[in-house]
Amino acid sequence: MNPETEYREGLEQLASNYKEILSLLGEDPTREGLEKTPMRVAKAMQVLTRGYNMDAHKVLTDALFKEDYSQMVIVKDIDFFSLCEHHMLPFYGKVHVAYIPNGYITGLSKIARVVDIFSHRLQVQERMTLQIKECIEQTLKPLGVMVVVEAKHMCMQMRGVEKQNSITTTSDFCGAFNQAKTRQEFMNLIHQ
Ligand SMILES: [Zn+2]
Repeated sequence: MNPETEYREGLEQLASNYKEILSLLGEDPTREGLEKTPMRVAKAMQVLTRGYNMDAHKVLTDALFKEDYSQMVIVKDIDFFSLCEHHMLPFYGKVHVAYIPNGYITGLSKIARVVDIFSHRLQVQERMTLQIKECIEQTLKPLGVMVVVEAKHMCMQMRGVEKQNSITTTSDFCGAFNQAKTRQEFMNLIHQ
């Protein structure tokens, strides 16, 4: 079975707790439209948090290729969807990654896979940014890596805390990206 569609232990219990939650919210969980909702939500939440069971480091170490290329490698506009750990509401947007290889590169799709794994957990945008950067730093051991995340937070927008459509940007970097010139080169490339 595909591990991505396999549901984890505790699914029944999760569904039964969601049934309770529906009642506590003032709903009638036995009415027709809601009958299957607790199980649907339980399955959806397991999918949205499937990253807990996955090893992002292994994704990269399994796909390292020796290569002398030492210019900046950029993977931009990686779509992601995550859940904020404070409200369990979605935040979503784009991740841009750049690294400068030091003898090893990885498949571009593997970088997207790493983003997928860290975003499918309860998160804060700052930590997700750091985790993606550290994962690439520790496995590829590049001369530098930089990660920029641009996201909209539904917990802010739906509750009216923040102006609609405002975007939160976070970034983290190391190595060669400590130089403002190198960061600027990356920022120019992602927004062109
Ligand atoms: Zn939140």
